[in-house]
Amino acid sequence: MAHEVERPTYEVVGPLERFDERDTVFARETLMPGSPEERDYHARHPELVEIDRRLAAFIQRKIDNPPEAPEDPLNEAFYDATFGSVAPLAQPDAVDGPVDSYRVEVDPVDMSRRIKAIARQLGAYRVRIGPLNRAWVYTHRGVRPFFEDYRANPPLFAGVPEGYQGLKYGDPIEINHQYAISMAFPQNLSLVRTGPSLLNDFETGRVYAASALAAVELGKYIRALGYPARAHHLRNYGVSLVPVAVDAGLGELARCGYVLTKDLGANFRLVCVTTDLPLALDRPVDLGVQDFCEKCLKCAENCPPRVIPSGEKVEVRGVKKWKVDAERCLLYWGSQGAACGTCQVVCPWSKPSTLLHKFVAEIATRIPAARRFLIKADDLVYGAKYEPAPFPDWAR
Ligand code: SF4
Ligand code: SF4
Repeated sequence: MAHEVERPTYEVVGPLERFDERDTVFARETLMPGSPEERDYHARHPELVEIDRRLAAFIQRKIDNPPEAPEDPLNEAFYDATFGSVAPLAQPDAVDGPVDSYRVEVDPVDMSRRIKAIARQLGAYRVRIGPLNRAWVYTHRGVRPFFEDYRANPPLFAGVPEGYQGLKYGDPIEINHQYAISMAFPQNLSLVRTGPSLLNDFETGRVYAASALAAVELGKYIRALGYPARAHHLRNYGVSLVPVAVDAGLGELARCGYVLTKDLGANFRLVCVTTDLPLALDRPVDLGVQDFCEKCLKCAENCPPRVIPSGEKVEVRGVKKWKVDAERCLLYWGSQGAACGTCQVVCPWSKPSTLLHKFVAEIATRIPAARRFLIKADDLVYGAKYEPAPFPDWAR
């Protein structure tokens, strides 16, 4: 396929270190002050006490002071409707489960073709299959749910799969699957462009929910064929999805910290299914994103709290990359009462999939000398400075 290369375009400069899910901002913002988990974590990371208190304050405030009369009740209800619907899909017998005792013999090439076709039927726009590098498997569980008290309800639920029973905060994660199927689900650009806003939350949550269901369905399909498979989505990750998707050739790691694809830019959500089903592998791609991001600073210049670096890449756990300050990003979301997404939509690669955009993306990938001109042209056509779009009539 076009743009395929032997190795992903991120530079490995040292031993790759696995990441502890407890270190993610989404784990740390739910550490309730004084809880055994919080005390344990901050005994090991005293330098994070102050910033984590600020991260946790938004959630704590909501728990302590549930608003009696929300400011915008019709749109505030979106969050529960979309993000709230993902939680049941995080249960252990949704993301994982028993493997059928009858194993269907499959040809890896045919099977890859079939899996991609099924994933597309389930709503994925792009599907790529890569190896699962163990370096991208989290070391320890840090984000809820933990399943300590989870109850199976046969026959509708298969029960708690081995490895999840009693799973709690800080338990080690081991996933030894060979392959990872990465799937990209596009977001409606005009809704994300309203962000930071409750409508952006709606669109983000809608796509998270749809993609989580697809990952769960695909995992169940593979287990019914007699092979292990585990879905990874918003409410239950065992692996870090971005490097997994880059290894599979979905796109490249960009300055904004997202995977950047040729046709969707950064305007999509990722899920994946890890498995031992025999599959033919795709290869990573080189779209010219590293060079493009060197020349383009649009996300960094438009990020409201300026947490995307405009300078050089730095080493992070063995990989050279632009390091986004995730703590200050999340604090900004909290200050706005909604997710931001500005970096996703200002990116020149994130445009509606028109013939013109496809043509421009083709030039951007193939002609390095044209990139500075394309960046300028993007500023002229779409504006250098991000302005949130108005809500459509139905959401006003
Ligand atoms: S989501 Fe918003 S605050 Fe966070 S990095 Fe992107 S632009 Fe910056
Ligand atoms: S906005 Fe520019 S610098 Fe940022 S990710 Fe997109 S191409 Fe790279």
